[in-house]
Amino acid sequence: MRIVLLGCPGAGKGTQARILCQKYGLTHIATGDLLRAEIENKTEVGLKVADYLKKGMLVPDEVVIGIAAKKLDEAAKGWLLDGFPRTLQQAHALDEYLSKHGQKIERVVYIAMNESEVIARLTTRRSCGKCGQVYNVNTRPPKVEGKCDACGGDLVQREDDSDATVRKRLMVYEDLTQPLVAYYRNEHDFHQVDGARSPEDVTEQIAGVLDGVKS
Ligand SMILES: [Zn+2]
Repeated sequence: MRIVLLGCPGAGKGTQARILCQKYGLTHIATGDLLRAEIENKTEVGLKVADYLKKGMLVPDEVVIGIAAKKLDEAAKGWLLDGFPRTLQQAHALDEYLSKHGQKIERVVYIAMNESEVIARLTTRRSCGKCGQVYNVNTRPPKVEGKCDACGGDLVQREDDSDATVRKRLMVYEDLTQPLVAYYRNEHDFHQVDGARSPEDVTEQIAGVLDGVKS
């Protein structure tokens, strides 16, 4: 089974990816994590990547693809791509790589939410300054307002989750992703699920899509 998972900020893509990989025995390929690991291990590629990031540049497509390709080849039972491809160019390069290696993407799943849903979900998020536990003032409030249930630390709103930052992140995301979504919608077996529902419900929607794939 070979799956590409797309999702807007706040859609819970990482959580769904972990659940699905466990359920279907897939290798979780999250390029963000892979890049971080290369940097931490100070590999040749990692040093290059660190240099791009230090200069505030995007990591070039061929570097990201090179890192992902190593993982794709190792994942005999199938894989789920999370956070990659991020751009239309990466999607083209991935298809080219896969067809050369006799593989293809079987399903593309897009966890979609509209802008007001994303903003409502992310700007109500709070996290513990001490242990990092995440809360939501609407859907997962702490027992005592402003205090962490686990350690009693003060809950804070991350800079990332402020209204202005969320809107900016969404704009950047839309610019990069719309062409990617359009490409997959036209060229691949593309399925959109409703990310505004509960995590359990989203898992169920995706499982409905994946259960049709022969492994
Ligand atoms: Zn805490």
